[in-house]
Amino acid sequence: MTGYERVLLKLSGEVFGGGAVGLDLDVINRIAGEVADVAKSGVQVGIVVGGGNFFRGAELQQRGMERARADYMGMLGTVMNCLALQDLTEKHGVETRVQTAITMGQVAEPYIPRRAIRHMEKGRVVIFGAGAGMPFFSTDTVAAQRALETRCEVILMGKQGVDGVYDSDPHKNPAAVMFDHLTYDEYLARDLKVADATGIAMARDNKMDMVFFNLSADGNILRVVQGEKIGTLVSA
Ligand code: UDP
Repeated sequence: MTGYERVLLKLSGEVFGGGAVGLDLDVINRIAGEVADVAKSGVQVGIVVGGGNFFRGAELQQRGMERARADYMGMLGTVMNCLALQDLTEKHGVETRVQTAITMGQVAEPYIPRRAIRHMEKGRVVIFGAGAGMPFFSTDTVAAQRALETRCEVILMGKQGVDGVYDSDPHKNPAAVMFDHLTYDEYLARDLKVADATGIAMARDNKMDMVFFNLSADGNILRVVQGEKIGTLVSA
């Protein structure tokens, strides 16, 4: 069991809302405590935060909004999640920095990759908000991009209530089978929807591993960081 030294954790908005709209501070506090444990163990952590608990651009588009404007609302939603996670992680005794892809100097630093690396080297958890700052992207793709640019060893895709990648939706098909390991080509050929295909292709092309694991079980973030074989490993 070999652990990692620098990881990129992706937390979807679903996690922050505890499955509903808005923030579930109890759930976020539990995740923040686990993130703090990982940082205290000496592992460097970057986190890309989703925003689906507030707005998803595609859904607002279906309700009549222009897609690009709706996507900016989605990106702004991620920043609220970042601030909540920052607050609660610091209450667990670990320093953090929020860096956003849309500049908002009063609330966060701008995204500066070299500075992000420096923060991580100093043991600060860096929380990346506002996606890529560009409409038509998803935070899964941003997770791949930030992991590559800040030289993380792996992308850890934390999922709400699912143990890994299945051959069909485990909520709908009780006979769904979970994969221990998949290649990116197999993932794409099966047209699986657990993470967005642009991010998957970016990780594949740059030989960056992803592990999909269940965030709902206590202690799983530390387990996966320490190299315990949980969830589904996707590799090139
Ligand atoms: N978004 C965007 N560009 C990005 C990242 C996110 O336009 O680089 C918007 C998009 O509308 C998306 C929303 O922000 O629906 C929330 O992000 P995402 O759906 O990836 O969050 P998650 O599914 O992880 O909660």
